Order: sequence, then C-alpha cells, then structure tokens
Amino acid sequence: RQPLAEIKGLKKYYPVRDGIIPHTVGFIHAVNGVDFELYPGETLGLVGESGCGKSTIGRQLAALETPTEGSIVYEGQPFTERSAAGMRQIRTQIQMVFQDPYTSLNPKKRIFDTLSYPMLYHGVSTRQNINKEVDRLLDMVGLPKNSKGRYPHEFSGGQRQRIGIARALSLNPRLIVCDEPVSALDVSIQAQILNLLRDLQRELKLTYLFIGHGLDAVKYISDRIAVMYLGKIVELADARELFENPVHPYTQALCSAAPIPDPEARDRKRVILQGELPSNKDMPSGCHFHSRCPYAVEECKRSEPALIPVRPGSGHLAACPVLAQGRWPKEDANA
Ligand code: SF4
Ligand code: MG
Repeated sequence: RQPLAEIKGLKKYYPVRDGIIPHTVGFIHAVNGVDFELYPGETLGLVGESGCGKSTIGRQLAALETPTEGSIVYEGQPFTERSAAGMRQIRTQIQMVFQDPYTSLNPKKRIFDTLSYPMLYHGVSTRQNINKEVDRLLDMVGLPKNSKGRYPHEFSGGQRQRIGIARALSLNPRLIVCDEPVSALDVSIQAQILNLLRDLQRELKLTYLFIGHGLDAVKYISDRIAVMYLGKIVELADARELFENPVHPYTQALCSAAPIPDPEARDRKRVILQGELPSNKDMPSGCHFHSRCPYAVEECKRSEPALIPVRPGSGHLAACPVLAQGRWPKEDANA
C-alpha cells in the first residue's frame, strides 16, 4: 500500500532571541526528528503533552510552516520539489481543523462568506453554483441552511466546530489535520463531533492526522496512534495494541493517567510521572524521557534511542533501548 503522505526526518527549531540588540541565544527544538507514514483512509492519532511538537508537525504537513530539516512527501512527491501549481494542490488537498473554532473563524464574516471564499478563490465552485455548494457543505456537517447569513458568535462551540469542519471540507481535501478539534468543547458535545468526523471520513474517504493531548478522543477515532514526547515519537502502534500492550514507560504513564474503562484492566500497573516536563530549550541528553522515567539506567542518559519494532517485523514501534536489549524491566514497575 502506498502512503498518501510521508514525514521524513522532520525537525523544526525556533530561534530564542534575547539581549538589548536581540540576537539568537539558542533554539527551541519543537520537532526533533520525526518519521511516519499516513495511509489513505486511515486515522493516525498523535498524542502527547502540550509543547511536545504535535501541532508543529500538523502545521508543517498542512504547509503552513516549513521544516528546518527533513521532508514531507505527498503522493510520492516532496513539498520542496513541487512547482507552484503542485503546492496549490497541497493547499486544497490538505486542510486543517483547529482546536478553537471561535478564534479560527473570522468574527466579522457571515458563514456564507467564510465558506464561499476559499471555493471561489481556488476555483472549486463558480459564482452560479456557490449557493448550492454552501448549502451542501452545511448539510454535510448537520447545520441548517439559514446558518449562512449568521455570524460565528451566534453559534455554540459545537456548531462553530461544525463550521470549521465545513470550511475544511470546502476544497474537497483528501487529508485533514485535526488539531485537537474537540479539546475546547463540552464533553457532551465531543462525541457528536468525533462521530461527525468519523462519518465524513467514511463517506468522503478522508485520511486524518488527529492530534490530541488526552488519549480518550484519540483512542475513539484512531486506527494507529503515535505517542510524542519532547519533539520525538516514542511509540507507534495500532490503537488497540497501544492500549493493551503499551511498552514505552511514557505511554504506560499516559494510559494509566486516563480513566480506565475496562474492569479487567484495573490492576494494570500504573506508572506515575515524576518531575516536571523538561524544557525543549535545554533538551536532556540521551533518552529525552530519562529525567522522568522510573526505569532509567545510566546508559539512558548517554545514547538517544531509535524508534524500532518491538518484535521483529512488527508495526508496533518503540524508542527504548532497554526494551530493545530484552531487558525490559516491566515487572519491577513501581514495585
Ligand atoms: Fe526510560 Fe531509558 Fe527507556 Fe528512556 S531509554 S524510556 S529512560 S528506560
Ligand atoms: Mg497544540
């Protein structure tokens, strides 16, 4: 199966400037060497604490930011080797749904304008058809036709996120980066939006990169999940496998911090995070997780672990050399 998009060796550093005559005093390593593929029709969940670089990856994939290093390949062609027309194709085929639908919608524009402008600009609809097209979009996301003449403040949070989704759909994308689309919503509304995204995916054969900081929403919607810690992926697996058999200590900590829905899982060992999230300005050496890892050994401070299969040939990947050497000390966890 050919991937729709490939992220290769992706890095993003932001300069930190300081001084009376501002100069660069260091770099924030927002994304620190990330690789993954997105396959057509799948949802890949990307989870991790805020500041771990997941939104930065999403914004780079949607061509809103350029990588410092590494490349993004879409349908076999790197962004950097694309013509202007090739990049225009990216800007229609890859769309974003943002966390806060309120700030991502122009408060001074009626919904009709918000939805019609991109379609007219990119030529996916004509002036004659635009009314019908806007109605069709509103219908797809479950909003009444009379929403067109209203302004964002007249809608609830969930309705505004439906508008955000309609706008993302307006250019007939194949890939949507959903950056914490339900984090700002009431819990009671979250499931409705997740179900809508799921139905749309089926209907329109969409591929999602679904970013979240908690596991609940990500678990609900994802086929595979990548767990990020300080700019790197530390574990990647099928969603089920990740929850049933998390092998990286950070993933174990994330899983045990989430409410446990399965009674059989109740005696699962809990890994509780110790210490503060280190700053990604002064990146720890070796494994970035060593300052908080209950299993850390001396060598963890020295060598940076690679993301490798948990078993030979497995699609379940983890970055922990202690595991790789068959010395996985799972049984001693918090003993
Ligand atoms: Fe913990 Fe060491 Fe594995 Fe990092 S490499 S997760 S510090 S045991
Ligand atoms: Mg974010």
